[in-house]
Amino acid sequence: MKQRIYINDVAVRDGFQIEKNFIPTETKIALIDALSETGLAKIEVTSFVHPKLVPNMADAVEILANINRVKGVTYSVLIPNLKGMERAIETHKTRGKVDEINVFLSASETHNRANVNRTCDQSFEDFAIMIKMAKDAGIRMMGIVATAFGCPFEGHVPEERVLGFAKRYVDLGFDGVTLGDTTGMANPAQVERISAALVQQCPNVEHTLHFHNTRGMGLANVVAGIRAGIVSYDGSLAGLGGCPFAPGATGNICTEDTVNMLEDMGYDTGVDLDKLLAAAVKMPAIVGHEVTGQVMRAGKTMHLHAVPDKLYTQ
Ligand code: ZN
Repeated sequence: MKQRIYINDVAVRDGFQIEKNFIPTETKIALIDALSETGLAKIEVTSFVHPKLVPNMADAVEILANINRVKGVTYSVLIPNLKGMERAIETHKTRGKVDEINVFLSASETHNRANVNRTCDQSFEDFAIMIKMAKDAGIRMMGIVATAFGCPFEGHVPEERVLGFAKRYVDLGFDGVTLGDTTGMANPAQVERISAALVQQCPNVEHTLHFHNTRGMGLANVVAGIRAGIVSYDGSLAGLGGCPFAPGATGNICTEDTVNMLEDMGYDTGVDLDKLLAAAVKMPAIVGHEVTGQVMRAGKTMHLHAVPDKLYTQ
């Protein structure tokens, strides 16, 4: 039997949050509804950040109130702080269900302070309050360790520090841990080593890897993660997203490119690649610029061609 690998899409959150132009709410909802029909395991649909900081996430409540939920798909949101947590719980109770909440801290102290203006210990003080709020509301909680494979300010982050944060999430009662390569510094050897240690240290929770393809190592890192036993991966439709410290850099690993590779390798992603591609090709028009997805240009691997009449060399 084929091994199952679970694919999550974060384009509507990680991708859209850096877009300068506001993407209309109905466009976001239509995209989420299309993604819901593709067989993805999870869709991160929005973030409860302050709308002034990230204008494209200002419609979080409207999105949760109006998407068509498909059975078997987990709809998650990203939460930066306690205020966002309160808004998410309120929305969950009154406007639209939240299945899962992702919270995050950075593995490096400098990045955490730059990102959320908290020390890492302060972040965990907040997480202890947040997990209680989520459990009371019946919402699953996932803890992200961002910059787990390198920090754009500090460089190398000690592996024991990353694993220590993963353990603190698990000890608080989190349902899963995500290691995020926020600025695309991970390499496959490092991914395999840290992922294997994570699986061994925290065997009874979900493990997810979140890669950005900033330096072209994204899909190689997925293969490395699978070798270490991790079966859940975040990607972004059409490769949307970016890196705040590398202007013009490519974004998250591309969801449909990841699915194409894994299916070719003999894994079962549960995803209908044709449906995913049909959604991906609409992305340049939605965001108003070119995107980095490769399979949407080249076609699926087994998209064969007629033999040309003339020799290639002519
Ligand atoms: Zn990301």
